[in-house]
Amino acid sequence: MNPCGEKNSMVAKFLEGAPLAAQIRERVKKDIANLSFSPKLVSLLIGSNEDAYYYAMSQQKNCQGVGIDFELRQFPDSIREKETLQIIEELNNDDSVTGILILMPVPPTIDSDKLMQQIAPEKDVEGLTPPNMGKLFFGDFSLAPCAAKAIIICLESYNIPWEKKRVVIVSRSRIVGQPLLIMLLQFADNSPTPTCCHIGTSQLIEHTLKADILVVAAGQVGLITKDMVKKEAVVVDVGINMVEVIENGKIENRIVGDVDFLSVKEVASWITPVPGGIGLITTALLLENISFLAQEKLKRDNNNTKKRA
Ligand code: NAD
Repeated sequence: MNPCGEKNSMVAKFLEGAPLAAQIRERVKKDIANLSFSPKLVSLLIGSNEDAYYYAMSQQKNCQGVGIDFELRQFPDSIREKETLQIIEELNNDDSVTGILILMPVPPTIDSDKLMQQIAPEKDVEGLTPPNMGKLFFGDFSLAPCAAKAIIICLESYNIPWEKKRVVIVSRSRIVGQPLLIMLLQFADNSPTPTCCHIGTSQLIEHTLKADILVVAAGQVGLITKDMVKKEAVVVDVGINMVEVIENGKIENRIVGDVDFLSVKEVASWITPVPGGIGLITTALLLENISFLAQEKLKRDNNNTKKRA
């Protein structure tokens, strides 16, 4: 009870993504203004996925905001894998293209792993090719998968201590869970102790209840409820799910995470809002990755010029 005789109820503080995203965007804008050329992102939309198209439109807006050129190349569902591999190869060899991104999902007739591996590592904006993923094992996060890096940056920026803490990650995906697991282990003896849960994990609650820091990226609305969260845990909700809600008698689309925000914020010490949390940082980090690729290209070009001189 507090001095007023009311029951103490805890409300988590918010890990807001907007200020961190704004800082990253500002930094990227300056770095790009100092470049001798305009970097260009080419996104490939294979098939007719509406969500992927909207994501591409938002990429375009974000790129334009910091001085990055953007091109969307669209292909029909019927395109063959061989043709898409050729297109990627052409982009690999096109000097005007700084980065290549494949919008997911691709049609089931196409192996997305093959496409990803076709991207030249020096044009891999998402850091998902084997050579760039491999760098994570050496503590080099300069081109890390954006969502995983966004979680690290968020925790560090809000001074959330992880040394000696248990981090439970609900995801083993290649864009979130696995890179995050590897990254969290790169802080020598100050690394936390991470556990990776997934759809095959039995008794998820037994793991989540032990988490000092709980990271969820399952793509399942309401997966994490209050009873699954340890008191005062830090909860990072990476999930982005579109749901329909009825507001004033009208059906509206709304974005929600994987965590039951209203109940979990009563037990957590910190929580990321959705929208407004990790997604904003992830988007800004994609721009930073393009800027990084552009700077690396410039270094390579300068070295080649010196060699020729
Ligand atoms: P994915 O389908 O590749 O991976 C989902 C992971 O969650 C898998 O490892 C799966 O085993 C696990 N999982 C699913 N249901 C589970 C359950 N009931 N119990 C335990 N584990 C379960 O998806 P993804 O591409 O990694 O994306 C996951 C979510 O994160 C989506 O909502 C996506 O929109 C979101 N996302 C957000 C950002 C961001 O910046 N905020 C970035 C990438 C993805």
